[in-house]
Amino acid sequence: MFGLDVRSVIVIAGIMSLMMSAALYFMKRNYPSSIEGLAEWAAAPAILFVAALLFGSRGRIPDSLSIVVANLLLFSGTALFYFGSQRFFGLRQSIRLWSGAILCVMPPLAWFAVAAPHHGMRVTITAGFMAVLSFTHARLILARGPRTFSTYFTGGALLALAVAQTLRFAESFQLPVSDGIFDNSSPGQGTYVSVYAFTILIATIGMILMATDRLRGELEHLATHDSLTGALNRRALIEACALELARCRRNQQVMSVLLLDLDHFKTVNDTHGHLVGDRVLVDFAERVRSLLRLPDRFGRFGGEEFVVLLPETPLDKARVVAERIRSDIELANGGLPKRTVSIGVTVSFPDDPDLDGLLTRADEALYRAKNGGRNSVETVALSAP
Ligand code: GH3
Ligand code: MG
Ligand code: MG
Repeated sequence: MFGLDVRSVIVIAGIMSLMMSAALYFMKRNYPSSIEGLAEWAAAPAILFVAALLFGSRGRIPDSLSIVVANLLLFSGTALFYFGSQRFFGLRQSIRLWSGAILCVMPPLAWFAVAAPHHGMRVTITAGFMAVLSFTHARLILARGPRTFSTYFTGGALLALAVAQTLRFAESFQLPVSDGIFDNSSPGQGTYVSVYAFTILIATIGMILMATDRLRGELEHLATHDSLTGALNRRALIEACALELARCRRNQQVMSVLLLDLDHFKTVNDTHGHLVGDRVLVDFAERVRSLLRLPDRFGRFGGEEFVVLLPETPLDKARVVAERIRSDIELANGGLPKRTVSIGVTVSFPDDPDLDGLLTRADEALYRAKNGGRNSVETVALSAP
């Protein structure tokens, strides 16, 4: 391979693994703990580094170290990568299953390394095990990961690794008893080792990208959502409103807006305490969300005031939605104090530029709902200014 001997390829790949390990370790330290699996992903390439050093020392140290221990570390490191991915996706780790599998393949491997050395048989065992593990890992990433570049990148690398291992497994039955220790008497060995080393390296880079994607998603969510209720925050709501208004205008449709305000909420706080008040807000948000459709947007505008955007929805339909929310909140209990909500409803004019005009009208309607005795829905009829 490009004048590089197998031993050098192994050691270079090992050193690169160590650098990946360092990168993942710093990510583990600095990323929020909600991003799981980084500890395993950081430890795995460090183990593979030690394995590479042992593999690279074939012929200079006992075979029990350069073959048996090295393969044990190779299996453990590769399995650890998989456990990390399981954690990353919030799944239970199948540590027992894979430790059991490693314990099963190690005795025959040691036999064909030390007691009755046989290169072909060793490759059969190693490639067979690694193929199964790599396929399992690739499947996990591709099935669970979001449809993003980092998922396909990582899953693809693992899949390539699995295919290479499978081919190696297939050819292992024709391999000679001795591999001549990197003297190219086993023709596929150089290619195989290089493919292995680089696919695992690419997969590691993919994992770094996956963790970064996840972090970006979490930060984006934090920046656009209210932390208590999970509703859109004021800024995100205003952005969503401008976007939806533009879309409605393009489709020559109208958008309705609901302004919701919990009735006598101050009394809930005063009577039951602020914590119960918070729980009422969380419960309220969940109930409203469950009554909305996918294109509808729900945001917290401040305190106990919420806004619902209903794109491509005329006033009469919006009124029905508002009435449904009002009665659902009135009937709800769930161990929380009784509460009701007043809702002001309005609809967009063709030239409404943003949320401001809409909210002013919705506020007018809300004011009437409050004055009329609360727990009611009021609308501002469509009449161009
Ligand atoms: P009205 O029926 O006229 O709307 O009466 P109200 O008591 O609901 O209205 P008011 O605006 O006087 O009071 C709103 C209360 O909402 C006051 C404030 O303490 C409470 N509040 C605002 N944000 C939060 C929050 O995040 N958690 C809790 N527990 N209370 C909040
Ligand atoms: Mg209120
Ligand atoms: Mg209020």
